[in-house]
Amino acid sequence: MPVIKVHDKSFDIYLPEESIQQRIKEMAALINADYAGKKPLFIAILNGSFMFAADLFKHLTIDAEISFIKLASYKGMKSTGNVVTSIGLEVDIFGREVIILEDIVDTGKTLHHFLPKLTHQQPLSLKIATLLHKSEATVFPLNPDYVGFDIPNKFVVGYGLDYDGLGRNLKEIYQVI
Ligand code: 5GP
Repeated sequence: MPVIKVHDKSFDIYLPEESIQQRIKEMAALINADYAGKKPLFIAILNGSFMFAADLFKHLTIDAEISFIKLASYKGMKSTGNVVTSIGLEVDIFGREVIILEDIVDTGKTLHHFLPKLTHQQPLSLKIATLLHKSEATVFPLNPDYVGFDIPNKFVVGYGLDYDGLGRNLKEIYQVI
């Protein structure tokens, strides 16, 4: 099914399921090597990252913990600019090796607002793993440490990412036409 409709918009297939899964295995292999002998704490940012977090986590062979937090900064197809924490971080990150899991880094605004809250708690290290990076859209410079795919500045849905609530259940990633 190359073209799909979500609400009023049409989307074309952009990343098939196999490519996403293959890339996630590669990202997990890099993390397994970089964190060998360590016990990192993954912090997955809901809602969009739930599928990525689950699939990446399955391929980790190191000891690892995971926790989930919810931040919201996106409504419809445009960022609202308001970053709201609605489910807080309950794990103590002091002295921990922390890896943030994001579905997508777009302007960088969400993480730009959130990272100081984490660094304030003095983790031993703090890295970012994102499945998608719209590096062309950068407004708040960030250098994600693990990037699945660098994608053009076009709205995407699927594999956890929604358009006004729908599309998260798609196994593939689709780009707006
Ligand atoms: P940033 O704060 O980096 O501009 O945006 C990050 C958040 O915006 C992501 O976690 C995601 O929720 C949302 N976002 C950015 N680009 C897209 C996109 O193309 N599709 C969807 N569904 N969400 C996006």
